[in-house]
Amino acid sequence: MGAVNCYVVRTGRDVVLIDPGWSSEVARTALDRHLVNLGLTYRAIDLILVTHHHYDHFSQAVDLRAQFDIPIAVGHGEQHSLRASLGEGSGYHAQNERLRRWGAVDLAEEAAAYRSTEREGSLPTGLADRWIEEGAIIGGIRALASPGHTRGHITFVLDEPRVAFTGDHLLTHIVSGTGIERVPAEFPVREQLASLRRTARDLEGYALAPAHGWVEPDVADRSVEVIAHHERRIAELREAVHAAGSCTALQIAESRTWTRRSLRFAEVGLLRRVAAISEIGMHLDELVARGELARISSARGFVYRAA
Ligand SMILES: [Zn+2]
Repeated sequence: MGAVNCYVVRTGRDVVLIDPGWSSEVARTALDRHLVNLGLTYRAIDLILVTHHHYDHFSQAVDLRAQFDIPIAVGHGEQHSLRASLGEGSGYHAQNERLRRWGAVDLAEEAAAYRSTEREGSLPTGLADRWIEEGAIIGGIRALASPGHTRGHITFVLDEPRVAFTGDHLLTHIVSGTGIERVPAEFPVREQLASLRRTARDLEGYALAPAHGWVEPDVADRSVEVIAHHERRIAELREAVHAAGSCTALQIAESRTWTRRSLRFAEVGLLRRVAAISEIGMHLDELVARGELARISSARGFVYRAA
């Protein structure tokens, strides 16, 4: 995820910056240049809205606040992640514990060692000046809670003209990941699907302005496509468990080949393996939440079988 789309919105008397990207010279130079093109200076900006706490969206906001005293607003549900990023929380223990529960014990060890040296630790972080609640109007923009990608993710909605700034809730070129945070919800796919159904229902005819990729004409159309993607994954995994009789998430991952080079699971890079196990595990757990699979604790993690 290199580039992040930053949006400048003028609403009545307020000038608002949405998702100013990550703290880097390249991103800052690009933002400086575009503000000049718009005839604006940083002093004209009243507020920074950030869709979620990920550092490629949030860290430059921290720099701008330090330099120009512009307040930052983030969804209320991002508090635990931002506090954890300041060392006030549990680090990635919960994520590593989930990998263990999905049968990937060795991977959890490897991830624990990696995460203690990750790049994120060197980027500026902090807390919000305002924690946004669902339905709030802030800087003239409506906040629509869209948990799933992270628990506190907010989609910012402008009603005139009709535009939704969807952050990473809804992207145009890829399906965004689910539960990417230190302490995810118990059933994050459930939350993601509920958010997608909501944007499909409530934002028909709203332009889709995502944080990565391009702008598209309709949030609802893309929401329906992404819901279908998740439902296909859920159906495939239901089939895989039925075919195996019983299995762990790790066993499903190991039964497949990965990447265009058809690598064995163990040959794939660490972050890709973590993402793959998490994606499989979260979708299996969604089947458990729906009562379609049973999940039994064992020494090698959760074993899934037909309910
Ligand atoms: Zn993100």
